[in-house]
Amino acid sequence: MAEKKNLLPIEEPPELAQARAEMVEKQLKRRYINDPRILEVMGRIPRHIFVDERMQDAAYRDGPLPIGHEQTISQPYIVAYMTQALQLPRDNSGVVLEVGTGSGYQAAVLSQLAERVYTIERIPALAKRARQCLDLLGIDNVEIKVGDGGYGWPEHAPYDGIIVTAAAPEIPAPLKAQLKDGGRLVIPIGPRWQQELVRLHRRGDRFIEEELAPVAFVPLIGEHGWDEYQFYE
Ligand code: SAH
Repeated sequence: MAEKKNLLPIEEPPELAQARAEMVEKQLKRRYINDPRILEVMGRIPRHIFVDERMQDAAYRDGPLPIGHEQTISQPYIVAYMTQALQLPRDNSGVVLEVGTGSGYQAAVLSQLAERVYTIERIPALAKRARQCLDLLGIDNVEIKVGDGGYGWPEHAPYDGIIVTAAAPEIPAPLKAQLKDGGRLVIPIGPRWQQELVRLHRRGDRFIEEELAPVAFVPLIGEHGWDEYQFYE
């Protein structure tokens, strides 16, 4: 059943609640994010707790924000767009893998639209902070692991949806292998500064590939992505 999961209430200034409502109206609805479940969830999850306290006023702006360690929390529209592109089971019964936990915000959004979310982050400090944010909201269906997400998380495969929030030169083979029949993988693919958001739809042993939109993501580092030095030299 697609019952709404409850978040723990948090105290927040009314300006932030207002900014969040405007984000949904102006940044999402007007740009054809039309899945009511996604609009409802993003209207509910306090994005500002996922960014540094000094930047909370900017949390609902129409852009990405730094989260430390040279990483960013994606623009709200991109979070909504990628979530919509996954086309998760409508009864929220899906099992999802995210590669690139970052702040934990995307995982929080997914947690409300899936049965379980598994998410992998290579930087331990970010994984720890993400866990704290999710705990603050009482989100208990997200599991975070520190490691190289390019290998996926085979123990919990196959996945209804796999979302990669860092850019790779090509689609990591282990992720394709861990996709359920009928499932979808959404990943930015391409060179360093500009990539194409790609969606793979698995049909048996066939993968239908679509290019969705031009995007710019931080790099996926590791065996199936970029070499750290190559990128930051
Ligand atoms: N989804 C995040 C945004 C992530 S930014 C959010 O909602 O805030 C991309 C993240 O991918 C960064 O935190 C980066 O450290 C991480 N990353 C890069 N390469 C990775 C890899 N091979 N495995 C796991 N995480 C990786």
